Amino acid sequence: MKLFSNDIGIDLGTATVLVYVRGKGIVLKEPSVVAIDMNTNKLYAVGEEARRMLGRTPDAIRAIRPLADGVISDYDLTEAMIKSFINKVCKRRLFKPRIMICVPSGVTEVEQRAVIDAAHQAGARKVYLIEEPIAAAIGAGVDISQPRGMMIVDIGGGTTDVAVISLGSIVVSRSIKIAGDEFDEAVIKYIRKRYSLNIGSRTAEDVKISIGCVYPREKDISIDIRGGSLLTGLPQTVTVSSEEIRGAFEDVVSEIIEAVKTTLEETPPELVGDILEDGILLTGGGSLVNGLDKRLKKETGIDVFLADDIVSCVAKGSGMALENIDSLSDPTHTYYKR
Ligand code: ADP
Ligand code: MG
Repeated sequence: MKLFSNDIGIDLGTATVLVYVRGKGIVLKEPSVVAIDMNTNKLYAVGEEARRMLGRTPDAIRAIRPLADGVISDYDLTEAMIKSFINKVCKRRLFKPRIMICVPSGVTEVEQRAVIDAAHQAGARKVYLIEEPIAAAIGAGVDISQPRGMMIVDIGGGTTDVAVISLGSIVVSRSIKIAGDEFDEAVIKYIRKRYSLNIGSRTAEDVKISIGCVYPREKDISIDIRGGSLLTGLPQTVTVSSEEIRGAFEDVVSEIIEAVKTTLEETPPELVGDILEDGILLTGGGSLVNGLDKRLKKETGIDVFLADDIVSCVAKGSGMALENIDSLSDPTHTYYKR
């Protein structure tokens, strides 16, 4: 038992940032959104406050998601966002924290360096980066040190990451820029085409979460959606059913399934055997789309499990990984250390 907990795990997601403090659990969960004042180029708001401004800002203020595609679109903003979140959770900095950060896959080495610098500037004593599937597995309570193949499928906002790990390292992996956000896009496109109605991404996400599905629901349900008519320009309400949305989701879910199947094909046979026995672990908010686990099981013939802590397991796993940082067999492979 340590006397104080100053180990922090950060999940820098494309949609959500979570901060885990050892001994305290998840202490921060905010959308990865920043708002900037275009006139002064200064940060105007961060996190939840900035998210409320998405699509509602006057010309002078812009709300953006700097990590939306799993690529850092704006360095300075990402840096400011990280600093703001870290400062929020370590107000009294008596002991400088060690921080393990999980960055979206696809983030380049230069971008990783920017993330590390931001954490140092925010007062970290040591900063490490961890790969998402490893963090997710640790957070889900898996013993990753075993010579046993395990498949993790993380469906976030901007990216879906499929990985097979064994002995604490990634053996095969694949990342596609098709994930939770694309389901929202599919809702927007469908409503526009079928009903000539314009809706925003917040409404689309609500539809996805409340009635969307990728496997037939036991009972078809429906929801009223309000938007702007493309024909009259006036507000209009339409009723949409889950079966309609299931059709609209077909392309997106097919791509995700394809990514899983291709990764399985590239996996060494012994490890495939392990995965057949143990099943596939699903993490990330995007995997909560209704029926996704059932659909994946049907298409692959492999059992599929949702992680218990689907939203927070990556942040938790990052924090937990700090406990073992010195005892890792190959730290340079799994963790990029500064
Ligand atoms: P990231 O790791 O990229 O930040 P998250 O793991 O936080 O992403 O997942 C964000 C995605 O999960 C978003 O697209 C969001 O709409 C989706 N999501 C969250 N909750 C649900 C739910 N109950 N049903 C369907 N999708 C959900
Ligand atoms: Mg994530």
